[in-house]
Amino acid sequence: MSDRPIPLRAVRTAAKCPVCGKEVTASYRPFCSKRCADIDLGRWLKEGYRIETDEGPPDDQSGGGGPTGQER
Ligand SMILES: [Zn+2]
Repeated sequence: MSDRPIPLRAVRTAAKCPVCGKEVTASYRPFCSKRCADIDLGRWLKEGYRIETDEGPPDDQSGGGGPTGQER
């Protein structure tokens, strides 16, 4: 149990994209492509906001006669 070096490279290469499950690209670790990176980021942000403000919808209408009553 000592003649068994851990193949770090293999571990790295074995990494898979958490979004689609494809092989990870070194340029976009830990994702396979920028697209997946954006998707994951979007999900993360959405969930984060959801958790923060679960009750009451956010600004539904922005820039359309809001209750603030501000004149332009
Ligand atoms: Zn992917």
